[in-house]
Amino acid sequence: MRHDTLLPAYEVYALRYAAHDRPRRDNFIAGSDPHDAAMPMDYFVWVIRGQGAVWLVDTGFNAEMAQRRARQFLRCPIASLAGLGIAPGDIGHVIVTHLHYDHAGNLDLLPKARIHIQQRELHYATGCQMCKPLFRAAFAVEDVIEVVKGVYADRVSFCHGDTRIAPGIETALIGGHTDGLQVVRVHTQRGWVVLASDASHYYENMDAEMPYPIVFHVGDMVAGWDKVRALADSAQHVVPGHDPDVLRRYPAPAGLPADLVGEVVSLHEAPVR
Ligand SMILES: [Zn+2]
Ligand SMILES: [Zn+2]
Repeated sequence: MRHDTLLPAYEVYALRYAAHDRPRRDNFIAGSDPHDAAMPMDYFVWVIRGQGAVWLVDTGFNAEMAQRRARQFLRCPIASLAGLGIAPGDIGHVIVTHLHYDHAGNLDLLPKARIHIQQRELHYATGCQMCKPLFRAAFAVEDVIEVVKGVYADRVSFCHGDTRIAPGIETALIGGHTDGLQVVRVHTQRGWVVLASDASHYYENMDAEMPYPIVFHVGDMVAGWDKVRALADSAQHVVPGHDPDVLRRYPAPAGLPADLVGEVVSLHEAPVR
């Protein structure tokens, strides 16, 4: 065990709620690959539990958004947390890695949760860059409005760069993919795990240093991979945001209901492959 005994050791789970069949060429900046195999994408939310509290990292999208974007909707990510014994009212905090539609929907289902987001991300999502379809395409304005409403309702905590959310739960500003993307670093029984979200969609984006095509600032994205590596205890402690391989690498928690078997894994346990 590498964990620091002075810090809490949290449970961390990935829950898949949607999927999308797509070719490899959609997942790398042009020129990455001469052939064009299938390379499907999974959509996750992540749960941190410990010290009698629950933090949800990102909130997914709903069935209507799935239909609008032609994604395969598997389950409501919020309702499905019941399979881990978590009711929506148990979620005191939501850490939003960035405001893209697949990470920041469903906030209406969590009216009591405190939202933690980089100030820079809300500036980006409401500022002049959103005049450009290139940059606003992956945002849904209703999600952005929900966060702005949260500001006026006193339920938003702004992160300014690298921020401690609680003992053993930290965020780090990466940018790149969006201007204010943050990753989440969690202390577990196996050491510091980093939920990379869209700092690296797939293991391969980071390992091959080949950016995903939705990117605001390529230099920040590339530098972000080094930062993510430095924050994690090893390469085996980095969890990409959309890679189906996550569900194959990590063990499932005990006691899952039948419909969640193969859909939820424990990231605080060592990978099994
Ligand atoms: Zn994104
Ligand atoms: Zn995403």
